[in-house]
Amino acid sequence: MNANVLYVDDDAANLTVFTAACGSELPCLTARSGAEALALMRHHEVGVLLADQRMPGMTGVDLAEQVRAEFPDTVRMLVTAYSELSVAIDAINRGHFRRYLRKPWDQRELRAALREGLELYEMRTHAKEMERRLVATERVYALGVIAAGIGHELRNPVGWTRSNLHLLRDGLRELRARVADGVADPRVLADRLAEMEDEIADAIDGIGRIADIAASIELSMRASEEGEPVDLAEVVQLTLRGVQGELRKRSQLELDTRPVPMVRGSRTRLGQVVLNLVVNALEALPDRPRAENLVRVRLVQPPGAVRLEVEDNGPGIPPEVAARIFDPFFTTKEKMGTGLGLAISRRIVEELGGRIEAERSREGGARFSVTLPALKG
Ligand code: ADP
Repeated sequence: MNANVLYVDDDAANLTVFTAACGSELPCLTARSGAEALALMRHHEVGVLLADQRMPGMTGVDLAEQVRAEFPDTVRMLVTAYSELSVAIDAINRGHFRRYLRKPWDQRELRAALREGLELYEMRTHAKEMERRLVATERVYALGVIAAGIGHELRNPVGWTRSNLHLLRDGLRELRARVADGVADPRVLADRLAEMEDEIADAIDGIGRIADIAASIELSMRASEEGEPVDLAEVVQLTLRGVQGELRKRSQLELDTRPVPMVRGSRTRLGQVVLNLVVNALEALPDRPRAENLVRVRLVQPPGAVRLEVEDNGPGIPPEVAARIFDPFFTTKEKMGTGLGLAISRRIVEELGGRIEAERSREGGARFSVTLPALKG
């Protein structure tokens, strides 16, 4: 065990007795006041805090409250005189302390209590560490899934670009040989060159597709660099065109994109936000006749801002997950979710000085709203 026990008491004699009681078995530190204890804790790992209740300035309970907020894993114990027992019990009931020790303490009881406290602390920190590692493993796994998805997307354009370049190389070799042999018929030559131009155009298309994929996965963006005046209504319309097919199959669409002021941002990234929200709305809708499903997309204009609302009449966001939906890798979709859509959307929106929120829609489904500062003039 590396963590220390810290005893806080304004009475120097008590501190000396305590240090002697710890002996060489228990690593202990002492402090004369709450403030001194907090300062010590910022530089030493303290597993158990033992605080005297009656101290000038900060009482034991006051100190425990601060320690609880700043060092939640530290096990807190209170030392009280018999006359203050009710204070101790009240403080334990309010969760400030794990237990109390009565003054004067029995050495064996004190050591046993401190050892037990240190063990509990080790267990807590160990459990936290395991949890942290588990989350990290899950993330690495999720990243693997994403990387595999990107690889899959890239395979086609990389494949066709390469085969076009091979064709071009072979064609050029053949032409060079003909020209060298002096047997090049100008008409045949012109036809071959035209074919090669097509092959070059296809290769350029392939590289364009690869560049698009790279651009769409590149997360970081500095608003000042990429910021341009954007018409959200246009972004919404363009994005909806991309999901039209799926939308028509699954749901009714109510669209209200009245003219709104421009906002500063990137068309591509804002399109990504709109797409994430609309796809999430579609995915939330239950399997039922199309006429019963509704996705509503509208633009409104609060003072100084532009707000995009995407709502659905699906089941809504369960309250127990509402606080986590914007966390990276949080998903409730068993197979197809990456849990990145909302996290990325929030990042894009916040980088533009806006905010994204989720609430219940009128019909009990989910409503996501993105509010961005309007450009003046
Ligand atoms: P993914 O769609 O891959 O799960 P997101 O970050 O886009 O990742 O969404 C995270 C979670 O938020 C979803 O798994 C879902 O639980 C919840 N959510 C998002 N949009 C809606 C919606 N329109 N209705 C209900 N829940 C939603």
